Amino acid sequence: MSQELTLEQIQDFKGQYPKQIWYLFLTEMWERFCFYGMRGMLTVFMVTQLMINEEKANLQYGAIQAFIYAFTFIGGLFADKILGFRKSLFWGGILMIIGSFIIASNPKEFFYIGTCFTIVGTGFFKPNISTMVGDLYKPGDNRRDAGFGLFYTGINLGALLGGLACVWIGKEYSWNLAFSFAGIVMIIGLVTFIFTQRTLGPIGLSPLKDWAINKRRMYEIGTFILSIACIPLLKVMVSKTEYTDYFMYTIGPLTLIYLFYEMTKLTADERKKMWAAILFSLFSILFWAFFEQSGGSLSLFALNNLHDSLLGGMLKVDPNAWNNASNSVFVIIFSWIVGLIWIWLANRKKEPNSVVKFGISFLFLSGGFYIFYSTRFFADATGKTSQDIFTIAWLVLTFGELCLSPIGLSLMTKLAPKKLWGMMMGLWFLASAYGQYAAGILGAGISGGNEKATAAEKLLVYTAGYKQLAIYALVGGIVLLAISPLIKKMMGDVK
Ligand code: GLN
Repeated sequence: MSQELTLEQIQDFKGQYPKQIWYLFLTEMWERFCFYGMRGMLTVFMVTQLMINEEKANLQYGAIQAFIYAFTFIGGLFADKILGFRKSLFWGGILMIIGSFIIASNPKEFFYIGTCFTIVGTGFFKPNISTMVGDLYKPGDNRRDAGFGLFYTGINLGALLGGLACVWIGKEYSWNLAFSFAGIVMIIGLVTFIFTQRTLGPIGLSPLKDWAINKRRMYEIGTFILSIACIPLLKVMVSKTEYTDYFMYTIGPLTLIYLFYEMTKLTADERKKMWAAILFSLFSILFWAFFEQSGGSLSLFALNNLHDSLLGGMLKVDPNAWNNASNSVFVIIFSWIVGLIWIWLANRKKEPNSVVKFGISFLFLSGGFYIFYSTRFFADATGKTSQDIFTIAWLVLTFGELCLSPIGLSLMTKLAPKKLWGMMMGLWFLASAYGQYAAGILGAGISGGNEKATAAEKLLVYTAGYKQLAIYALVGGIVLLAISPLIKKMMGDVK
C-alpha cells in the first residue's frame, strides 16, 4: 500500500505535521531512551562499580561523549555514499542492541567493549533519522522547523524516561538488568521503525539502489565489517583519554578538508550555503560547550550546593536527578509551543530568520548562566542555595536550546544539497562532539583544584565561572546578531 507513496505525495501532506513524523518520533524516542539511559549510567557505574576515581571517570565520560558525536559524522558519510539512511539506522540500532546486551551479560568485564558498540551504533543511527525528518518536507515549506520541534520533543521524552529509569534500576536493583533494559527498549525502537518504514516511500533508500546487487552488497558488507573492525581500536582510545585529544585534534581538520573537496563539486550558490552551514556548526560548538556543563560541572554544583526542596518547599527532589531531568521536562512542555510560535509568526511574515534565532539562543544561554551565577545571592551559610532559582536558569537555558538545536537540525537539511545531507547532519553532530569535549575542559577549569574547598567556597568558585560563561555567551550572541546580515546573504533563499 503505502510503499507506493511518492516523495511528492508524502510532502504534500495536509495539516501541521506529516504522519510519518510520528513514526520517526517514536523510533527516535526509544533510541534516545537507550542512549540517555546508558549515558546516565556511565559515570555512576564507573565510580561505584569499576572504582575509577571521579576525575578519571569524568575524562572517560567526556571521551565517550565526544566519540559518540564524532562517529555521527562517519555514520552520516556512509549513509550518503553507501547504505542510505534506512539501512544505516537499522545497522546502528543493531549495534546499540548488541552493545547493551554485551554489557548486561557482565557489566564489570565488558563495560568498555559494549560502550564502543554503542558509540559506533549511535553514529549510524542518530544523524540519519534526523535527516529523514528533513526529507518529509519540500524545500521552502515553513512547517519544517515545527516538525523538527516536534521531533525534538520525542528526543527529550526518551531522554527523560531513560535518564530516570536506567540509573534507578541500576542503583536499586541490578546493573545487568539496567543495561538489558536499555537493550530491550532499543529493540522496541527498531521494531517500530521496521513496521512503519513502508510509509516513508522512497525516503532513505540506498544511494546505490541502481547498482548491480552483488556490487552493492559488497560495499554494504564492507561497511558493516569496517564498522565492527574499528571497535577494538575505539576501546583503546576511550580507555586512554589522551588518545581522545589526538583524535579530536585530527578529525575536525580532516573533516573540513574533505568537505572543502566536496564543495569544489558544487555551484557557487550551493557553496555559499555550505559555508553558512559550516558557520552555524561552528557557533553551535560554543553553545554546546556551555550548555553541556549540564552533565559535568553543573551536576557537581547540584551535588554540593543545592537544597533538595523545590517549589518553595512543596516538593523534595534529588538535585542531581532534577539537574538531569528539568531540561527535558521543559523541552517537552515548550518545544511544540515554540514550534507553533514560529508558524504563527511566519504566517504574519514576522518569523525571525535562523541566524537571528541562533543569536537569540546565545542571549538565553547568557541569561541562564547569569541566573546560575545569581544563585550565590540566595545561599545560606553552609553554601547551599535555592533549587528553585537553579530551575529557573534551566528554564531560560531550555529556550536557548530550542532556538538552536532543532533549528540547526532543520537548517542542515535546508542548506546542504541533498547528496550531502547525511554528511552535513554528521557535521552538525561533530560540532556537538567538540562542544562536549570543550565542555569537559571548561568544567575542569571551573572545578579544578577545589576538591578540599568547603561547599561555601565552591559556591563562589562555581558561580564566578558561570558569570564568565554568561559574559562569553552574551558576546557570542552579539557577534552573531551583528554578522547576521552577512550569513543571511550566504543562505540565499533559505530562511
Ligand atoms: N539533546 C539533543 C539530542 O540528544 C541534542 C544533543 C546535541 O546535539 N548535543 O539529540
